[in-house]
Amino acid sequence: MQPKIITIIMLTLLLVLTSCGHPVDPAPAAVGPAPSVENQPIEAPTPVSATAPTPTPAPVVMGPALTVSPAYNIKEHVTYSGARSNQKKLVALTFDDGPDSKYTDQILNLLKKQNITATFFVIGEHAAAHKDVMKRIISAGHEIGNHSWSHSDLTKLDEQQLEAEIDKTDEVIQSLTNQPTTLLRPPYGAVSQQVIEYAEKSHKIVNWSVDSRDWEGISTDRILQNIKKEVRPGAIILQHSAGGKNGNLSNTVQALPLIIAYLKEHGYQFVTVSNLISQNVPNQ
Ligand SMILES: [Zn+2]
Repeated sequence: MQPKIITIIMLTLLLVLTSCGHPVDPAPAAVGPAPSVENQPIEAPTPVSATAPTPTPAPVVMGPALTVSPAYNIKEHVTYSGARSNQKKLVALTFDDGPDSKYTDQILNLLKKQNITATFFVIGEHAAAHKDVMKRIISAGHEIGNHSWSHSDLTKLDEQQLEAEIDKTDEVIQSLTNQPTTLLRPPYGAVSQQVIEYAEKSHKIVNWSVDSRDWEGISTDRILQNIKKEVRPGAIILQHSAGGKNGNLSNTVQALPLIIAYLKEHGYQFVTVSNLISQNVPNQ
């Protein structure tokens, strides 16, 4: 055996012997930055992906690369529900994607019959096209929130596009209500640090805690079951007042009286999102 090979064997043996009996050091913890959360939609805390379907999102335009602080906690900036109080069992019904000329009116009629106020997160271009329906929503005392101008995924836009989606919708709402809206619900519930930093300047970002999944074309009974399963005091319930699978939301309309009856039976009071958050129950 050559001296070189003998040396290698001896060194190897020495290494093995000196490590015997010593615990192996744990692998060093990863110290690099946390994975970027940029452009990753945050879903509401519901079991299935929380998405709203309509209208089809605009073609994806990738925004510039963002530096996201690893410590930035997106969920801290989003409201999913109000306080969970058993003394005041409050619940907020919310209707997205309207107004339209078909279903929004039917929903307004049902809410009026029951003397209930709700919150409508409107798409700016729909609000501009259906100002008469907007006026009906407003005069009935419902709250209006911003749901972007064209239902784009706001996390996919550059700064200018993002600001236009929010600002143009604010302007059309303010032109009808004479006051700025303080609520924003991003389409699909999707937010990024960039979206939050701009939206938070003048809005509270509001998603939902209960997804009725009404837009999927599911039966009236399934819609009701989805709500029964998740509803708690302080819940924000997601429904729609326009769109739906193949443009059909008739099950949402049919389910609404059943949902209201169930919630009333269980002692819930219906309030707008702003009143839910502030635990304010106006006289109705
Ligand atoms: Zn939507």
